[in-house]
Amino acid sequence: MSRIRGKNTKPEVELRRALFALGIRYRLHSKNIQGRPDIVFPRYRIAVFVNGCFWHGHHCSLFKWPSGNAAFWRAKIHRNRRRDLWVNEQLVQAGWRTITVWECAIRRAPAARIEAVAKAIVQLLGQQKSEWTSHTIAAKDMSAPTDSSE
Ligand SMILES: [Zn+2]
Repeated sequence: MSRIRGKNTKPEVELRRALFALGIRYRLHSKNIQGRPDIVFPRYRIAVFVNGCFWHGHHCSLFKWPSGNAAFWRAKIHRNRRRDLWVNEQLVQAGWRTITVWECAIRRAPAARIEAVAKAIVQLLGQQKSEWTSHTIAAKDMSAPTDSSE
């Protein structure tokens, strides 16, 4: 499965570092949880997936259908998408909540943006179970980085 969702990708490591800096502790790649989430908060029953926009077919500027081998890629990426939906459904049915952080939200982003994503996750941890079940964080959800003195 490592080609579907690489472990310890750069955006993922940066996000973990930002969470850690905020004093948030987590577990990684829990094998015994459906879909092997990248970051897990067991006490909250919240699983975080850091999804590569290409492999998971995100509708954003990082995704483009490859020009060669169109049928192969179409099948592969559709399969990955279906699997993501299935995993999400399984987790939610088992009483988990899920956060999907799309690569485009944090890839090559300034530290302030990555910190903002980490803070958004911390905020979600503080919310009641009845408030949300599955949450997505993508580039379009983040305000444009300011060019202030950072
Ligand atoms: Zn994306």
